[in-house]
Amino acid sequence: MSTKTSSSNPTSAAYEIAVKELGLKKNIAKALEIPDRELTVEVPFRKDDGEIESVIGYRVQHNNTRGPFKGGIRYHHHVDIQEVRSLATLMTWKTSLLDIPYGGGKGGIAVNPHQYSKNELERMSRRFFRGIDPIIGANVDIPAPDVNTNAQVMSWFMDEYSQIHGYTPAIVTGKPLQLGGSEGREAATGKGTAIVTRESAEKWGIDLKNAKVVIQGFGNVGSYAAKFLDEYGCKIIGVSDVSGALYDPDGLDISTLFDYNYKNRTIDGFNQGKKITNEELLSLECDFLIPAALGSAIHSSNVDNINCKIIIEAANGPVTKKAADILRKRKVKIIPDILTNAGGVTVSYFEWVQNLQQFKWTEDEVNSKLETKMVKAFDEVYVLRQKKDIPMRIASFMVAIDRVANAYTLREG
Ligand code: NAD
Repeated sequence: MSTKTSSSNPTSAAYEIAVKELGLKKNIAKALEIPDRELTVEVPFRKDDGEIESVIGYRVQHNNTRGPFKGGIRYHHHVDIQEVRSLATLMTWKTSLLDIPYGGGKGGIAVNPHQYSKNELERMSRRFFRGIDPIIGANVDIPAPDVNTNAQVMSWFMDEYSQIHGYTPAIVTGKPLQLGGSEGREAATGKGTAIVTRESAEKWGIDLKNAKVVIQGFGNVGSYAAKFLDEYGCKIIGVSDVSGALYDPDGLDISTLFDYNYKNRTIDGFNQGKKITNEELLSLECDFLIPAALGSAIHSSNVDNINCKIIIEAANGPVTKKAADILRKRKVKIIPDILTNAGGVTVSYFEWVQNLQQFKWTEDEVNSKLETKMVKAFDEVYVLRQKKDIPMRIASFMVAIDRVANAYTLREG
């Protein structure tokens, strides 16, 4: 089995460079690449018409040296073992970078969930959770939502597990507030993104007040990032979603747009700003460009149009390796996804801690702990970047890998 992914993937390329920079011994680097365990399960479930359908589900547990495996479960027809393995690996580095006492895992079902009724999805979800039951547990492996799974799916998971093992809210995170979810979870990834943007402004001498920001994607991450950056005093001059983009050089009215989008689930029809295309949005001159929609949004064909000082990678893998190399030559800074969007898993961790303690924190408590974690991780990465004159992505991987490698050596030695 090969655990390698293409070196055109910025994540695996960064791993290889970081391992070299760290001078990590070959045997340790290899050990950290190999997933601890991979489970493939058949998921049979009854359809509404009475027929049985079977789909394939996966749970990959990459590494638990620093704590239980942690990572989401996605429902998507592209899901396969390679994708889940690579995402599980990334979770190991992300939890390590934030110094959260977790390892990395990921799961998924290869299915288009939009083809099924809610009842069918419930039966499929419960059966999948029974399938992976032998390898999960509140101190073993704690799943969470990911693409096309949400608080409802987590409620079914939690209920299914609790029926077998007794009431166990800490078995999954991303639950609704009524079932032990955490205050602040919905906004966490966007908040973390805003914090990282604020810290970058300070380090690279950009005045946050009136800094010009452009955001691609106005879903959970993009809309909350916009909200908090607006509160910091930034001028959000452009935003987009799948329906198109809006531009106003004087800054969009973000609090009204946030409410409009929250209600309508689209920015389409909002009555401020000039309508432009998504490609035009990416070309806008600005201080911060925040891709918060899709992977590979900035690639070799559109990279020459990028006109910002710093890219804040809120989405996973929004800048291809080729584009990143070109941007580096142009001295455009990139704050990598592994750091920028780690606010979500950080507050997931807080949810789990609250569940284990059977104690609820206030939103202010959650936010202040998130702030501390994000700033500390940012500073560690920045200090290493300065010391070694390397990109923030490589510095992030070095901090993360070094922490896991040290723990691994202590445990195995
Ligand atoms: P979401 O589904 O809530 O929002 C996605 C947004 O992107 C929507 O506004 C959608 O209209 C827009 N979009 C889709 N295609 C587009 C296109 N071609 N051009 C412009 N906009 C487009 O998703 P989300 O939860 O906000 O996640 C966004 C990204 O952040 C994803 O890459 C996700 O993997 C990553 N991420 C999310 C979290 C989290 O906690 N939600 C955590 C870590 C990483």
